[in-house]
Amino acid sequence: MFDLLDKYRVNELHVRDDADSGLKAIIAIHNTRFGPALGGCRFISYDSTEAALLDAVRLARGMSYKAVLAGVEQGGGKSVILKPKGAYDAEKLFRTFGRFIESINGRYITAIDSGTSAREMDYIRRETNHVTSTSDEDNPSLYTARGVFEGIKAAVAYKLKRDLSGVKVAVQGVGNVGYLLCKFLYQAGARLIVTDIDSARIQRVKEEFNAEAASPADIYRTPCDVFAPCGLGGVINDKTLAHLHCAIVAGSANNQLGETRHGDALHQRGILYAPDYVINAGGLIYASLHHSGNKQLLIDDKTARIANTLTEIFTQSEQQRAPTSEIADQLAEMRLYQGLSEAA
Ligand code: NAD
Repeated sequence: MFDLLDKYRVNELHVRDDADSGLKAIIAIHNTRFGPALGGCRFISYDSTEAALLDAVRLARGMSYKAVLAGVEQGGGKSVILKPKGAYDAEKLFRTFGRFIESINGRYITAIDSGTSAREMDYIRRETNHVTSTSDEDNPSLYTARGVFEGIKAAVAYKLKRDLSGVKVAVQGVGNVGYLLCKFLYQAGARLIVTDIDSARIQRVKEEFNAEAASPADIYRTPCDVFAPCGLGGVINDKTLAHLHCAIVAGSANNQLGETRHGDALHQRGILYAPDYVINAGGLIYASLHHSGNKQLLIDDKTARIANTLTEIFTQSEQQRAPTSEIADQLAEMRLYQGLSEAA
């Protein structure tokens, strides 16, 4: 366990096993140099405790990198709850989890992630204030989509030296974020090709934003200026790379690169990649600033600044002849650990 924590430079791990509610939860706090750790609560089935621990630790580090590059006063953390195999009382389980969070005294703030929704956050809120994404808040997808839109605009300006009018964007997945992204792109004059595994969702963007449709398999080989993964992770891999017919990869999906080396492969092929955790930070910016009582104006301003951070990463990538994914990690690590002899 300590080897794993050392590898990911995770500072704290909290564990709760509550027989009464069936709660088995891990909270990983990666770094709190710039503020309390903020990160979602994942509620899924795991094959083993080790798999759950690895997920928590890996995701917590990701949140630190995301927060520090988004410029919010937040550290990185993540929690995982091992989904019970049998029946369970959701309210009891999540309220017990809420008390667990409360016991950490604000060093960790939770949010929605895979398997949780505003409903679970509302249960947690009955026990602690250290929770975001409850049902009385805005939908964070709006801010995520806004940030991705600004990021695509910056990538197109950098790589293609033009604005979005007439630019062809292939959007993979038109759910919460993808749909809103299509709306912003359409309003800016971009041409859209979309796919989804849900045909009703495709139909909606076809009708509302004059989009063309492609099958989920064909989206990779669709000639376009920008490929925007907004569905699932791991879509840039050995198989898909051979087909990509775009100048830019920029979308909301988490963990777009199948492996780290695929960032290098994109770079070698001259495809400009907007690192996922930088471009999709809008939701985190909203959660962080809204939670600390900040004004809407600041939320909008920080979300728009995602474009500046990306342009800095693109410029450094060109100057250093290194993949953008590597530059983003270096930048995050530099900001997190600068001036410290050890991990904060
Ligand atoms: P969502 O579930 O609302 O939308 C995802 C869409 O992708 C769905 O419509 C789904 O049918 C589609 N999809 C799934 N598999 C597909 C496939 N093989 N081919 C084509 N389409 C497929 O999720 P969301 O909230 O819009 O998030 C989208 C992505 O962005 C996820 O990877 C998520 O982790 C990431 N993200 C979301 C937010 C946010 O604020 N919602 C923030 C940061 C990152």
